[in-house]
Amino acid sequence: MDLALEASTDASTTVAARVQRLRDEVAEVARSANRDPAEIAIVAVSKLQPPSAVREAYDAGLRAFGENYVQEALAKFAGLPTDAERHFIGHIQTNKARALARGFDLVQSVDRLHAGVALAKAARAAGRRLRVLVQINVSPQERFGAAPSDAPALADELRAEGLEVAGTMAIGPLTNDARTIREAFLRAADAHERVGGTILSLGMSADWRVAVACGSTMIRVGTAIFGPRPLSKGDSSS
Ligand SMILES: *Cc1c(COP(=O)(O)O)cnc(C)c1O
Repeated sequence: MDLALEASTDASTTVAARVQRLRDEVAEVARSANRDPAEIAIVAVSKLQPPSAVREAYDAGLRAFGENYVQEALAKFAGLPTDAERHFIGHIQTNKARALARGFDLVQSVDRLHAGVALAKAARAAGRRLRVLVQINVSPQERFGAAPSDAPALADELRAEGLEVAGTMAIGPLTNDARTIREAFLRAADAHERVGGTILSLGMSADWRVAVACGSTMIRVGTAIFGPRPLSKGDSSS
């Protein structure tokens, strides 16, 4: 396996130890890309992990948490201190707009106007200004996300609806080929420049190093922090 794509998923260690190792590695990779490590935020992706694991990550100093399923997230977030940032990174169902607008600080996965309109309406009803990212599709295996060429216009429309578009998010292609991943992330970074905003959310456990080299300011890391996810419905064998 390509070293640059190796995920740290050692099951025998603790969340605190994995967080420390990840931080050290982020600092090292950032510096080798001539970047300030402080520019790269870590979002702990806790889907399918128990609340106790999320608490361990919080106690290890992490303050941003990402979840893919609304009900699961709300149950888990209820136990977190209020300074924890709650991110939604899953596919948006418009019938969940109200829960999303109330329960999350950043919705990373707005990929179509219809979802954005529902979120904006729910945010207005909740009296909140909701921060979102435009999700861009740069992977042939990914079903969701706006085409990079459509992203700037979508961002404008979302802003006109009253949402605060803080940047972009993308999921890399499912491959071990670092060059293919790099090309996809550079397409996302290019679209990001045209969307505007300060957050470029790129990179997961296996490909965050490539993402940091491509300008990512936010990596979303699950297995490298929590270890392998317990399998459940909706989780494919990957
Ligand atoms: C699950 C997930 C992650 C984290 O994946 P890992 O490979 O466990 O780090 C990041 N982003 C999104 C959108 C996800 O669904």
